[in-house]
Amino acid sequence: MAAVLQYTPVDSIEDTVEHLRRSFHSGISLPLAYRKKQLKQLYNLVTENEALLFAALRKDLRKHEVESIGGEIAPVAEECLWFLENLDELAKDEKVNPRVILNRLGGSALIRKEPLGVVLIIGAWNYPIQLLLVPLVGAIAAGNTAIIKPSEVSAHTAAAITALLPNYLDPRCYRTVNGAVTETTRLLELHFNHIFYTGSPEIGKVVMSAAAKHLTSVTLELGGKSPAIVSSDVDMQVVTNRIAFGKFYNAGQVCIAPDYVLIERKQLPEFVKAFKTTIQNFYRGHPEKDEGYARIVSERHWDRLHNILANKTSGHVVIGGESNKSDLYMAPTVVTDVDNDDPSLMGDELFGPILPVVCVDNLDEAIDIVNSRAPPLVLYLFSKSRKTAEKVLTKTQSGGVLVNDTLMHQAEYALPFGGTGRSGQGSYHGKKSFEAFTHERSVMIKNLSMDGLVASRYPPYNAKKASL
Ligand code: NAD
Repeated sequence: MAAVLQYTPVDSIEDTVEHLRRSFHSGISLPLAYRKKQLKQLYNLVTENEALLFAALRKDLRKHEVESIGGEIAPVAEECLWFLENLDELAKDEKVNPRVILNRLGGSALIRKEPLGVVLIIGAWNYPIQLLLVPLVGAIAAGNTAIIKPSEVSAHTAAAITALLPNYLDPRCYRTVNGAVTETTRLLELHFNHIFYTGSPEIGKVVMSAAAKHLTSVTLELGGKSPAIVSSDVDMQVVTNRIAFGKFYNAGQVCIAPDYVLIERKQLPEFVKAFKTTIQNFYRGHPEKDEGYARIVSERHWDRLHNILANKTSGHVVIGGESNKSDLYMAPTVVTDVDNDDPSLMGDELFGPILPVVCVDNLDEAIDIVNSRAPPLVLYLFSKSRKTAEKVLTKTQSGGVLVNDTLMHQAEYALPFGGTGRSGQGSYHGKKSFEAFTHERSVMIKNLSMDGLVASRYPPYNAKKASL
């Protein structure tokens, strides 16, 4: 049987990068009209091929159409439309009023928005369209040429994008390279002007080390354990609806899924009762039969999640726990009374439908637990109190914060999206995507007249010049 995804021959990768470099230096990716045409084409790619892309996502993750539209197609299409509307404004020179009087008299200053050059975009498998093509929108808008490297794990979607891309985008400027570690390692040996990587913190280190060899800048969109703090002044049914939505979307394979819950012990019975109602309502009592509930991406990841539950050193499974390897199914699972130092449940990011609940005595203890770990990609807080929100914001660090909901901050493209420290560096979406792929070049233009006015700075120096 032919492989779903054809890997790019390793010895052809350097030529592809060189080809894109020549295209960049020829200037074809630069005119705004060209960039807009490519953006319109990228919009067409995702909107004209919805059925094909849905089918691929279904094969890779059994993603439901509702999640495929909301989490994959719409973000790319909307980002294209936003840039088509705003590109002229973003790309224009920014005039600067020089502070130095002599510069003001004899010249002008401006900031030119220039592309970085040839950029590499490496995507993850959980949102194999969004995480690859939304950064590409920014790269195109800023005038770069780009190689996209889809995750080989979501092979059907990678194959679909690879087949579609040359039909829509200019192959002189935008190419796909496919493969796993060998091919990505070859890519990383080559010189790019920027690398935009989405994936795990461990591979993020590999990418950053490779980039350092060429002094290439990076944007790292990584993961981590994002907490959800539930304070005592909430409507519990709304809270469990929102936490379950964020936790079990794409079967928990979401970088911004709430990874664990911190809640005061006295609220636990109410939380569990409300959570059971939520799961019953969301999946009509049978998540394994419900079309809306996704599957684990591969046997390797299913084994990883299965072992996390099997090796837990604390807690009780109060919801779910069932799984079926032949169908890559893992039930929405809630484990209560988990110890904060349980290495299995509270070690690394879970990246699956398992929700540990850690009981605390008060908000201060919850804050201490958050601060004992690396800053997460997002911090969720459920509370009606502005004072509580302000306290949590002031005393913690994270890439983003969402109060009283989950995931929805990621859909707000007016906000920068990114992590901090171990959860990532740099950000994107909307204006921030343009900035991620742009060099702000300082330009000062002076005239050659009035040389006498600046003569005081020329040698030979003397006491009078020193006193000026
Ligand atoms: P991953 O790091 O295993 O893979 C990401 C990419 O890196 C893939 O294209 C893969 O081919 C490549 N890769 C894997 N091993 C490599 C190696 N040794 N050398 C070079 N390249 C290599 O991540 P994943 O499993 O695809 O995704 C899961 C992780 O990504 C989670 O940690 C999740 O939180 C994170 N994530 C972050 C975001 C975000 O926006 N911040 C979004 C989605 C996923």
